[in-house]
Amino acid sequence: MEEEDRIDEVLPLSTMYAILEECHAKKSKELVCVDYYLAAAIDGFDVLKKVADNWATTEDLTVEESKTLKNDLKMGHEYLQTDFSIHLQQHTEVISHCIQYALGDPDNKDFTNECEQHLTVCPQCEALTKTLNELKNRIDKKVSICKIESCDELDDLEIKQIETDYAVFNIFELRSHIVRSKLSDMERAKDISELDETKAYITLDWAHKLLPTKYRETQKDFFGKDGMSYHISHVQTVKDGDFIDYSFVHIIENNKQVKF
Ligand SMILES: [Zn+2]
Ligand SMILES: [Zn+2]
Ligand SMILES: [Zn+2]
Repeated sequence: MEEEDRIDEVLPLSTMYAILEECHAKKSKELVCVDYYLAAAIDGFDVLKKVADNWATTEDLTVEESKTLKNDLKMGHEYLQTDFSIHLQQHTEVISHCIQYALGDPDNKDFTNECEQHLTVCPQCEALTKTLNELKNRIDKKVSICKIESCDELDDLEIKQIETDYAVFNIFELRSHIVRSKLSDMERAKDISELDETKAYITLDWAHKLLPTKYRETQKDFFGKDGMSYHISHVQTVKDGDFIDYSFVHIIENNKQVKF
């Protein structure tokens, strides 16, 4: 703000603290062992931003339009990684936030739940879908015009078209992934809340030693590394009316990770 000479727009300190009271700041940290979905979608947004930049240089868009497009992408990205998951519910009137509707299989009655009507749309979800579809349509149109006019840049454009398609696909995949993981989290919380002395909730996974990490690395980068030989079994249950948990650590010498 200071650098941009917008110092008068800075909120008073007391107001900032009041906001922080209500709405806790989330520290953004490096992403270790990010799942593929997230890494692919982040790359997707980067690709699309570059496309928007490129269109400003080729004068397909004015500088202003390109800026707006990039800003729309940024907003969509932020929304997807923050509020979207919070807005999801088992069933809600907002069609893009209804888990039941999103995860139902229209071809299999056993995997659908009847929903009441979905009467509202979410402006942020709509905006992201619209931005991504517009990008795709624009590049498709450029390719077909180029084909008709047999212009020189056809190869180049077709590569851009593939990259754009892939980027948009990965962003939508992340959105689906968020819906699925939200449901798993809800189910997990439900199972844990229903624990009693006859039940245990066991989570099995590999742990790892502290290793040098990239700022953003995928599971593929991560699991290729040496030195990950700890296997953890975490058991949650109830004893004498209290929640208790046990952790069992197995150290596996030959360094091979096998799926259970
Ligand atoms: Zn919200
Ligand atoms: Zn619904
Ligand atoms: Zn939404």
